[in-house]
Amino acid sequence: MESKKEDVRRKHIRLHMEGALTARDKVGVQDFVLLDAYTSESAFVDNLRKRFNENLIYTYIGTLLVSVNPYQELGIYTVSQMELYQGVNFFELPPHVYAIADNAYRMMCSELNNHFILISGESGAGKTEASKKILQYFAVTCPMTQSLQIARDRLLLSNPVLEAFGNARTLRNDNSSRFGKYMDIQFDFQGIPVGGHIISYLIEKSRVVYQNQGERNFHIFYQLLAGGEEERLAFLGLERDPQLYKYLSQGHCAKESSINDKNDWKTVSNAFSVIDFTEADLENLFGIIASVLHLGNIGFEEDDQGCATIPDTHEIKWIAKLLGVHPADLLEALTHRKIEAKTEEDFTRKTVIGLLDIYGFEVFDKNGFEQFCINYCNEKLQQLLIERTLKAEQAEYEMEGIEWEPIKYFNNKIICDLVEERHKGIISILDEECIRPGPATDLSFLEKLEEKVGKHAHFETRKLAGPKGRKKIGWMEFRLLHYAGEVTYCTKGFLEKNNDLLYRHLKEVLCKSKNVILRECFLRAELENRRRPPTVGTQFKNSLSSLLEILISKEPSYIRCIKPNDRKEPSKFDDFLIRHQIKYLGLMEHLRVRRAGFAYRRKYEHFLQ
Ligand code: ATP
Ligand code: MG
Repeated sequence: MESKKEDVRRKHIRLHMEGALTARDKVGVQDFVLLDAYTSESAFVDNLRKRFNENLIYTYIGTLLVSVNPYQELGIYTVSQMELYQGVNFFELPPHVYAIADNAYRMMCSELNNHFILISGESGAGKTEASKKILQYFAVTCPMTQSLQIARDRLLLSNPVLEAFGNARTLRNDNSSRFGKYMDIQFDFQGIPVGGHIISYLIEKSRVVYQNQGERNFHIFYQLLAGGEEERLAFLGLERDPQLYKYLSQGHCAKESSINDKNDWKTVSNAFSVIDFTEADLENLFGIIASVLHLGNIGFEEDDQGCATIPDTHEIKWIAKLLGVHPADLLEALTHRKIEAKTEEDFTRKTVIGLLDIYGFEVFDKNGFEQFCINYCNEKLQQLLIERTLKAEQAEYEMEGIEWEPIKYFNNKIICDLVEERHKGIISILDEECIRPGPATDLSFLEKLEEKVGKHAHFETRKLAGPKGRKKIGWMEFRLLHYAGEVTYCTKGFLEKNNDLLYRHLKEVLCKSKNVILRECFLRAELENRRRPPTVGTQFKNSLSSLLEILISKEPSYIRCIKPNDRKEPSKFDDFLIRHQIKYLGLMEHLRVRRAGFAYRRKYEHFLQ
């Protein structure tokens, strides 16, 4: 078996080497460092295009992997491909996401240190797919004991469940991650995977109640309606047709031909049973999901005194039944007031390989608080890459006295500061508006921004119009010049979303629910704590800063994903779009540093060992 594998590998390498020489013109070079005209962006794009046309979606810049979404199944993720890459030196085989995974794994085993793989790129570029391929690679190739297979299956199958609840169709991506995910795979000293850990970041809550034209709510709602058993739907008081639910039909694409909700339901149901959800858990869980749909269909009216009323209590009865609360209490809580909110997470470790898959940079026609948070997160990850590669590497050459021509790059720290600096940044200004007494509005927030950061080089509002010819900034809008491009944000809803307050009265009712899962979400202890919880913006900022602390202590590998076109189509290579991504992903700068620097580095102690 071993020798057969070795034969295949050698043959592969020989063909590859021959191919590399004879077909270089046709398939391009597999490492951009080998490009003759390595400073030319056109040469870079040409190389990427040649390879893409031959279905070679992966190319290296040294050890960084550039991946172009093929939008089609290429048959390059088979078990025999995995075996081919297992334990082989990085540059011996054509670039592949498996090579990145294998390299991180072997370095971790030999040096007993922690690693992470940072996958970045805009929405639809292929980050989630890449992270799944890596996970599958570890699942198939790592040594495994029988008892651990259960843990492995759980880790793998947590994915469809997380995606069902956290992904949705957007205009950019039919399966867009609407939450950030950091997944840790823990290995013991023999390199056997012994556990895992998942941290999720800021889910786009507002999607539950509102979706833009052409977009959907989270997959799980549609899956339940399309695939759920008759008795289950009857128990939940639901009909199959998603059009009947306000929260599922605003985007006018509840039924999407590219998505098979019925099949996906089967996958998710199977996953639930493997990760040990009992029937009682599922009843509670889907009780909540169904309640959301019923809640969306409640009609509120105003009575003679100007108070809210709910004339038709049909939905209320269903919600009360499903959540195990008293209908009268629920009705009262939905039409009257009080206030409060909540926080997150914990952590453990052995040696680990962390996988980060987070929502990509987003620019829509209308961008709100969610896009602001998502793009801020992408700025921070870009900052990490700059610090760890472009900056640290050049500093190291200088420190070691190696002759070095400094390579210029755009450092986006200035934008991160604009967003997050204490007392001065946009988040602080927003928080101030959220807590100050007196009437604060989305407009007064915008005015504060103008006053406090109006002069910043990466900030514009309508008063401080940018160069002519650019899209005009409207009423209630501000624009940030992100590392990846300009985004105009509408401040409408910023205050409310940042506050994220749920009326106290309603929380009191939910605390008493007979639904166990719901009770875990609304803890009585939290209700009794009367301190104001941090705002959503600040919570997010803090969780990003602890994420960066987790990452900074580990050895990095990078995957930069590129989206070839805006139409989700195979074989379409849009030069303009790709050039833009090459620019903002900093790939040319990265190439220059790699080309001028050393290809291989190792700590002295490890080398000696
Ligand atoms: P978002 O930021 O919106 O979550 P993303 O970068 O995670 O986007 P993916 O969901 O990974 O994007 O990819 C979008 C779609 O592109 C996938 O659903 C799949 O159809 C296709 N795709 C991505 N990578 C590959 C691949 N390696 N092979 C085949 N198809 C792919
Ligand atoms: Mg994704």
